[in-house]
Amino acid sequence: MALPKHRFMIWLMFRNALNLKDKFCGIGVCSDDKCCVCDADKETINHLFLQCRYSLLILQGICTWLHIPIPTGNGIILIGRRNWAPVQKSICLAVVMAFYYNVWQQRNLARLEGKLLSPRILIAQIQQLFRSRIQQVNLDNVIVRVSNVIVRDRIWLNLLLTIII
Ligand SMILES: [Zn+2]
Repeated sequence: MALPKHRFMIWLMFRNALNLKDKFCGIGVCSDDKCCVCDADKETINHLFLQCRYSLLILQGICTWLHIPIPTGNGIILIGRRNWAPVQKSICLAVVMAFYYNVWQQRNLARLEGKLLSPRILIAQIQQLFRSRIQQVNLDNVIVRVSNVIVRDRIWLNLLLTIII
């Protein structure tokens, strides 16, 4: 369900290969270590994805839409450990990957051009992307494989397709 470009960005993140300001300031290449997005705190991977007020608004929005608790750590690891139905887990992981990717894109936009999309617009874009991806998937085939959770999954998927945050 996740897009290849989202997976690639996550791959970079897990290898600590994102060029955040704390890296450059740590080796003396730059002196401004403030977050490119909020300018309120030191730009670290934890700040950008877990603490930055901009990112938190987006994460809250997508978690409300997905009907899942807001992850208090790395969402990919935490959701990966959940004992959820495969359909729900696959979609939640893909949406959270999209969250990381989009926050990273907005961070780069803020750094290079001094602008970024509002959290509301970004949430709407992520929802739109996954609504169309969910509709493209043959849900009947997916759900038959997890027949013990057919009703719950179908209700949850219908919520994703109809509720707008
Ligand atoms: Zn910030």
